[in-house]
Amino acid sequence: MSEQMYDVMVIGGGGAGMAAAITAADTGASVCLIEASDRLGGSTALAGGLLFAGGSRQQRALGIDDGPEAMFRDVMAINPDAPEPVIRRLCAEAANSLAWLEALGVEYPEERLSSPSGRTVPRAHEPVGFGMAVAERLDNALYQRHVDIALKSRVEQLVCDAAGRVTGALVDGEVIHARAVVIATGGIGANPELVQRFLPKTRGSSDWVWHVGWPSNRGDGLLMGEEVGAKLGGADSGLLLMTPGFHRDFEVIGPEWGVLVNCHGQRFVAEDGGYWEIAEGLERQDGSRGWVIFDAAMLREHARPHPRVLEALANGTITLSWITETLERQIAEGKVHRAGSLAELAEKAGVNPAGLEAGIAHYNKLADAGHDDDFGKMAQNLVAVRDADFYAAEVRPAILVVTGAGLCIDERARVLSEAGTPIPGLFAAGETVGNVFGRNYVGSGYAIANCITYGRIAGAEAVAAS
Ligand SMILES: Cc1cc2nc3c(=O)[nH]c(=O)nc-3n(C[C@H](O)[C@H](O)[C@H](O)COP(=O)(O)OP(=O)(O)OC[C@H]3O[C@@H](n4cnc5c(N)ncnc54)[C@H](O)[C@@H]3O)c2cc1C
Repeated sequence: MSEQMYDVMVIGGGGAGMAAAITAADTGASVCLIEASDRLGGSTALAGGLLFAGGSRQQRALGIDDGPEAMFRDVMAINPDAPEPVIRRLCAEAANSLAWLEALGVEYPEERLSSPSGRTVPRAHEPVGFGMAVAERLDNALYQRHVDIALKSRVEQLVCDAAGRVTGALVDGEVIHARAVVIATGGIGANPELVQRFLPKTRGSSDWVWHVGWPSNRGDGLLMGEEVGAKLGGADSGLLLMTPGFHRDFEVIGPEWGVLVNCHGQRFVAEDGGYWEIAEGLERQDGSRGWVIFDAAMLREHARPHPRVLEALANGTITLSWITETLERQIAEGKVHRAGSLAELAEKAGVNPAGLEAGIAHYNKLADAGHDDDFGKMAQNLVAVRDADFYAAEVRPAILVVTGAGLCIDERARVLSEAGTPIPGLFAAGETVGNVFGRNYVGSGYAIANCITYGRIAGAEAVAAS
């Protein structure tokens, strides 16, 4: 590889990198893709694969009135500090990214379109076969094009000319030359030092936090960009989902039947809301922690997997926490507290006893009325807590799924310098970018929308710059 000067070098073979390489190759450019691990796919292959888009064919077929402008308004309302031109371009292109993936063979049936928390109109398009199918179709498309792919090759450093233009990268001690370089190395989740540096909100729970994602996503792109003067953004932005920490797994939905309280014994969110809204709510509580309160009847009759979790189980990926069997084991081991009264339970768990008694009494009234006036939990999930014994499982936002810190780009995926000007020859896309994801999670599918859309833009812009 080293003899050749490529038009475009793509670093990282997840969703963003493959989208960039395919787009660049489709123009006739010479392209190489360098991937650290022994296969393509990255976290994209592990994902649900949902893609957030406004103005799609699926929405039109269902009569949903939506489009890029409405999506843009919603994203900016959720993350007002986001850079408008960058978000506007993402919103303008997201439905095209969906259509582009469909053309590569990914199926997004209309009936799988959803709005998991109701925060926006339905925009989360779920593919048949989840993220694995997305990664496989991209992988197939890549192999049908003329792209030189190097697996098990971790890029260590960018190479620049005297004028500061990026002209290649160092891989296994060897320089590979390219007229333009796209960084698509994913997030920082697998690098505990970078997590400490860029996600200070994890420090309070650092002994609980674990990463679910591709193990070679160690923030190399962020560090390589920083070395050539890139502006970094997105500190403390990332998805940290709620868990009781029984095992280092990925059960992020449920228990919708329990009552989630803070250390004052007060509820703060609908327990059946969007998984990220629950996690965001938890982050705002004292000590970033909460307790799921339940009683003997719930333990017996309600502790079953959520239907969405069952789907994931079909893929054999989750050890369940919120089921009778696991909970009984955790109660026996003392990890879940048990007591004959709510006041005693509160003492054991470290929750304010009077607050918990009052909080649960209030919740029981809502349950009896069948209407959650406080947070809008669905009636079927409102179950009164009356049947002693009572239980409390501590939960924290600790499953690190997506990170938002990284390189700042403009709407053409050009990596910006500290001074705010594009670094010549350098582009970035996907989770390695630090100014798209935002402080608050926009909704299911936003990360994949970002990675495919800016992957396509980076591929095209890199060719134009080469
Ligand atoms: C379990 C799970 C479920 C998710 N579900 C969804 C969902 O349904 N919808 C959604 O929008 N988002 C979801 N996400 C998030 C989303 O999948 C990611 O943000 C997105 O796929 C990232 O794509 P990417 O191409 O930037 O990174 P990745 O797909 O992670 O690819 C990065 C690649 O870069 C390679 N790499 C890293 N360093 C180097 C180096 N130095 N040299 C060469 N190669 C390198 C890695 O090995 C990897 O292959 C989920 C994430 C997880 C973990």
